[in-house]
Amino acid sequence: MAPSYRDTLEHLRLAFPQPVSDPIHDSYFVHSIMRTLDQVDALKTELPILGPIVPGDFEQARNATLPTGVSSVEAVTSELVGYLRGMTISGHPQTQQNVIPPPTIPSLIGVLLASLHNPNIAWDEYSRLVALAEVEAVSITARLVGYDPQQASGAFTFGGTGTTLYGVKIGLEKACPQAMQTGVSDDVVVLVSDAGHYCAHNIVGWLGIGTDQLISIPTTAENEIDLAQLADAARASVASGKKIAAIIATMGTTDAFGLDDLQGIAALRDSLVDEFQLSYRPHIHADSVIGWAWSVFNDYDFKCNPLAFRPRTLRAIAGACRRIRHLALADSMGIDFHKTGFAPYISSLVLVKDRADLQMLRRDPRQMPYLYHFGDHRPGMYTLETSRAGTGPLAALANFRFFGEQGLRVVLGHIVEMTQLLREHLEGHETTTVLNRDNFGAVTLFRVYPPDVDTFAIKRQEFGDPAYRDTLLAHNDYNRKVFEYVHAEAMAGRGVIISSTDCYRRTQYDEPIFALKSYILSPFVDEGDVETVVAKILEAREKIA
Ligand SMILES: *Cc1c(COP(=O)(O)O)cnc(C)c1O
Repeated sequence: MAPSYRDTLEHLRLAFPQPVSDPIHDSYFVHSIMRTLDQVDALKTELPILGPIVPGDFEQARNATLPTGVSSVEAVTSELVGYLRGMTISGHPQTQQNVIPPPTIPSLIGVLLASLHNPNIAWDEYSRLVALAEVEAVSITARLVGYDPQQASGAFTFGGTGTTLYGVKIGLEKACPQAMQTGVSDDVVVLVSDAGHYCAHNIVGWLGIGTDQLISIPTTAENEIDLAQLADAARASVASGKKIAAIIATMGTTDAFGLDDLQGIAALRDSLVDEFQLSYRPHIHADSVIGWAWSVFNDYDFKCNPLAFRPRTLRAIAGACRRIRHLALADSMGIDFHKTGFAPYISSLVLVKDRADLQMLRRDPRQMPYLYHFGDHRPGMYTLETSRAGTGPLAALANFRFFGEQGLRVVLGHIVEMTQLLREHLEGHETTTVLNRDNFGAVTLFRVYPPDVDTFAIKRQEFGDPAYRDTLLAHNDYNRKVFEYVHAEAMAGRGVIISSTDCYRRTQYDEPIFALKSYILSPFVDEGDVETVVAKILEAREKIA
């Protein structure tokens, strides 16, 4: 008999989890995962990187073609593991690179489960209780940040950018009712600080508001929005007949962990409504994708300090909570579990204080004849996405259940403790200076100076005095060299991977300030690793002229 397609089909069927209980095949599945993990493990060395860094040949990649024949689970997984070569191990104690956390095992299993049976949380008909998991994750987060969980609602979406997109879109519908149908015909503006995330540019562009209508408000030395300038810009816009689609309050800037004064912003919004007798309430969206996590400390007993944090840590946590505890004043906010929630990408949630806000985005059911005829829970009627994975909600819920309030306090508290320790060391040296001293997160921006620089005065001089322009730029280059040295050393197994930013903010005379950047998000970072960073910086200073 000639071979038929059925012979191949038999082989293909073995590459799927079995639809009917088959423990032997389950063992094969688990074993395949084990072998994969073994191969990933084999890439580990002492370095904070998986295997060697292999430069990607993107030219070659463009020639990729579909293989003609069938392969095997084993062969394909080995090939896939190869793509992890050169990845930074985000949980490694010698990694302080960026706002990328190591994901927990429960959150990884959450992702696996949601992928295994492929719930689509657009509709409970296609996701059953996984849709419920999303609602639970929304409620837990709502309560955490101070929203009334009965009144609030939310949806997981495609990243922090997606959360701000929802916030601004809702605000646009409030300012210009029916914009969804009629388009944006009014003059509309969106306000955000100049330390806010660049996604605001994308969002106003994609929403048809236009990047020209995004008003960038200067920040104070503490990297928070300048309230007086925000008030002036908002009043000027409204007075000239424009509508405010949204004020974006950044609650944890990406580089410096600046926190806007939401209380002040909310008071300003309320007074604008009165003053100009506005027909709508300008929407306040908190871009709290990084800062939200600090709300676990909102009712920490700072006096008794039951977790025994050091006084400096306690002060740093209190310094962040001073702003974060007012998060509930925002009409909507963004939460990235894949940043400060120890979940893998993508796990982002947009929360709204008033569930009616999401209903403003609802489509006419006649536009979706093949979906949502029945069922109790149909977020797909208003979400931007059609298919939505259960991975984000299950990862987030897994971490909430695993950590609990205490675990989140411990892991964040430790990270803040290590950050404060780093600052203590940096401040203990005459040649280094911390730039974001008044921002109390997990990120430290700092600069180091060559001999003969008065580091007590230089920060202020470089920032405010145009006579120091050349000095500033020379020191930018100097710090870039320090970064390159420290980076090369870390890649050789000597030291810690940190990062840098070309422009953590501009000087008053509009030049970029380069900064060295340590972002601590690994629970494995300990005192020795922090000391190594400082030692390496000082060593770099000796090595470069
Ligand atoms: C990372 C970040 C974003 C974008 O979030 P993604 O999850 O990367 O899409 C938005 N705002 C701030 C403040 C961020 O740090």
